[in-house]
Amino acid sequence: STAPRKWNFGAGPAMIPRPVLERAQSEFLNYESTGVSLMELSHRSDTYENLNNRAQQQLRQLLNVPANYKIIFMQGGGHTQFAAVVYNLLAWRHHQNRAAGVASDDWRAIPVDYIVTGSWSIKAAEEAKRLGANVRIVCDAKKSLGSFKGIPEEATWKTSDPNGELRTADRDSGLTPAYMYYCDNETVNGVEFPYVPSMHDPAVPLVCDMSSNILSRPVDVSKFGVIYAGAQKNIGPAGLSVVIVREDLLQTSEMKDGLFPVPLMLDYKTMVKNNSLYNTPPMFAIYMSSLVFEWLVDPAAQRVQDGEQYFEKELIGVQAAATRNERKASKLYRALDESSIYRIVVEDKAARSKMNVPFRISASRKDDPSAVADKAKDEALEAEFVAQAEARGLLQLAGHRSVGGIRASIYNAMPEEGVDVLIDFMKEFEQKQQ
Ligand code: PLP
Repeated sequence: STAPRKWNFGAGPAMIPRPVLERAQSEFLNYESTGVSLMELSHRSDTYENLNNRAQQQLRQLLNVPANYKIIFMQGGGHTQFAAVVYNLLAWRHHQNRAAGVASDDWRAIPVDYIVTGSWSIKAAEEAKRLGANVRIVCDAKKSLGSFKGIPEEATWKTSDPNGELRTADRDSGLTPAYMYYCDNETVNGVEFPYVPSMHDPAVPLVCDMSSNILSRPVDVSKFGVIYAGAQKNIGPAGLSVVIVREDLLQTSEMKDGLFPVPLMLDYKTMVKNNSLYNTPPMFAIYMSSLVFEWLVDPAAQRVQDGEQYFEKELIGVQAAATRNERKASKLYRALDESSIYRIVVEDKAARSKMNVPFRISASRKDDPSAVADKAKDEALEAEFVAQAEARGLLQLAGHRSVGGIRASIYNAMPEEGVDVLIDFMKEFEQKQQ
């Protein structure tokens, strides 16, 4: 019915499952027999409230979110959450400290710990600093490894090293950190945690940016204080963030508390109290996300459209998505490994992302010991690769502007066939270089 779809390897906004787009198109003018488009509905209508609740339930089911965690739909993206995390959890720790009669009442003294494994965790740490927080970098992969090509061993992180400069409770202030932060999948660098960090004080909530790998594999939510994700990679359209927060951490703050007031639009507690309907939510993004959840979710929980299940059950749940993602990523890494001109950027095999695969192309072959690297030539070859791929309908393969090279993003919505087409193209391109 429409022109053939191209394979979109963009890191975000990224591919949305084709059946979801078709379903949205079919409902665009008349949402659930209301006679109007979803975008024209009141966010206070029962119809919208049902959608809002259904989307939350779907996500709860998909990620097995325990009952003591709240799900919030918020405006904005990852950057919005970089700030929200700081405000909300410093407010929470500050109130905890006050209740416990901890000596220092200065919120600026409360440590916030960051694990840096790529450019998004750097940005999050920088935002926390900018807001005045006492940021401690407990692990800096670039410093330890020379570049963002893996994850330094947990035992080397300063919080967990008994001889390190940092302790869970700060030596000078005696204050327990408000949280420990990390990014589960560094979208630019292609570094993904193969585990949940464990070497930290359980009294310190773990905060995780899962923007580019949420729903790509099962996750034990109970290990986290806060999980958040901008929607535009593995969920739906930009403009929405999903936040999963443990309910005992919900703590807002007012000027009279001797602390910054948490801006209401960033305030998890306000959002929870109002069931994500404090103000006008990004309704269309939430609707699209709910279709993506439905595409993933167990068929027993599906809505039935015209007496039939709307989505073919190619995927059933997050575990099925994970199995497929594993297969897609491993065949792509294998093809890169076996070639003479492509080089995988992330050397630490266990930390290679299953969502974003950055690689370089070199005109001097890996198997030729006499070859001399020529950066300009390599970059020209990479540009040629991107252009030729584009002409073949393989879109957005250029690496992030900050690092260059090539990056193939293969989120849930990328069918295995798309990866196969890419691998065929890579082989063909390599052959032409000989
Ligand atoms: N965190 C991660 C892991 C990302 O990939 C991105 C995205 O581009 C961001 C944060 C920033 O997201 P946004 O552009 O929505 O602010």
